[in-house]
Amino acid sequence: MFDWNQDPHRRFNPLTRQWVLVSPHRTERPWQGQTETQDAPVQPAYDPACYLCPGNARAGGFRNPHYDATFVFDNDFAALKPTTPVEGFAQDGLLIAESGPGICRVICFSPRHNLTLANMEQADLRRVVDAWVEQFLDLGSRDMIGYVQIFENRGAMMGASNPHPHCQIWASHTVPNEVSTEQESQLAWRRDRHSCLLCDYARLELASRERLLEENGSFVTVVPFWAVWPFETMVVSKRHLTGIDGLTGAERDDLADILKRTTARYDRLFGVPFPYSQGFHQRPTDGAPHDEWHFHAHFYPPLLRSATVRKFLVGYEMLAMPQRDITPERAAERLRGV
Ligand SMILES: [Zn+2]
Ligand SMILES: [Zn+2]
Ligand SMILES: [Zn+2]
Repeated sequence: MFDWNQDPHRRFNPLTRQWVLVSPHRTERPWQGQTETQDAPVQPAYDPACYLCPGNARAGGFRNPHYDATFVFDNDFAALKPTTPVEGFAQDGLLIAESGPGICRVICFSPRHNLTLANMEQADLRRVVDAWVEQFLDLGSRDMIGYVQIFENRGAMMGASNPHPHCQIWASHTVPNEVSTEQESQLAWRRDRHSCLLCDYARLELASRERLLEENGSFVTVVPFWAVWPFETMVVSKRHLTGIDGLTGAERDDLADILKRTTARYDRLFGVPFPYSQGFHQRPTDGAPHDEWHFHAHFYPPLLRSATVRKFLVGYEMLAMPQRDITPERAAERLRGV
C-alpha cells in the first residue's frame, strides 16, 4: 500500500500548475534535538549608519524626515522608471522584448530600526496595512501601471542587507510571471467550476485543519498542500476579495493580526528572526474587475532544519522540478508546536 508519509510522490500546485516532488522517506529521523539557536546580533533602536532610519541621509543627497509611523519614498535604486516609453521588439519569434514604465517605492514599517512584523504593536502594524492599501490605490490608479507588487525580503539569507523593518513595492506596466500564471489558473477554475479556486481551497483547509497554522475572523495561514519551501505558508482571506483595497477596517486589523502571529511562529521555530521573502498577490490594476482573483500572501522562508541550515533550489530543482523532504503536513505540525 502506498504511504503518503513515507513514499515518494509528487503534488500539484493548482495556482501555478507545477508539480513538486515530495520525498518524505529522506527524513526518517525525528526533528527533536536538531535545532540550533543562533544569537541574532542585537540591533539598536536607531542606527546612525542606516539609510532607512529617521533623519538619516540616503543615496543621491536625499535625507529622511523625522518620521514617527510609516514612511514611503521612491526607491533610490529603482529597477523600473516612470519615464520609460512603451515599446516592443520581436525578431523571428525568438528575440522578444518589451519596455514599459514602472515605479519602485520603499515603505519603512516603523522609525524603530530593531522591530519586525512579529514584535510590532498591533496598532502600528495596522498602520502598515493602511499604507499598503494607500499605495495599491495610488499606484494602481495610474494608467501606466498594470500591476502593483508589494513584497518584503527579510534577513541576510534572503539578500536583505538592512535589518530596518521595511518592504518594497514594484509597480509595473505589465503583469509579472508568477501573477500572470496564477491569474490564468484562477480564470480557468472560475470558467470550469463556476467558483473561486482559493475560496474552495480555504474551505477545504479549514475543514481538514491538517495544514492550518493560524486562523482569525478574516484570514487563515496554511502550509499549502503543494508547498516547495520546507516551511512555506500562504495567508488567504476567508472572504472572496480581489485586492487589499477591499478589506474592511476589521479585516485590516485581522490582516495585521495574522501576519504578526504567523511571523512570530516562524521566529519561535528555530529561535532566530526567521528569514523569508513575503508578499501579496492580487488583481492587476488595469481597470477590469478580475473577479477570478482571490487576495492572498505567500511566505517563502529558506530555512530547512535549523537557524543555519538552509534549503537551496539547485541541481534537480533547476534542471527538473522542485523537491522537498519533510511533508507539508509535518511542517505544519512543527510550526503549530511552537
Ligand atoms: Zn534603520
Ligand atoms: Zn475567492
Ligand atoms: Zn499567489
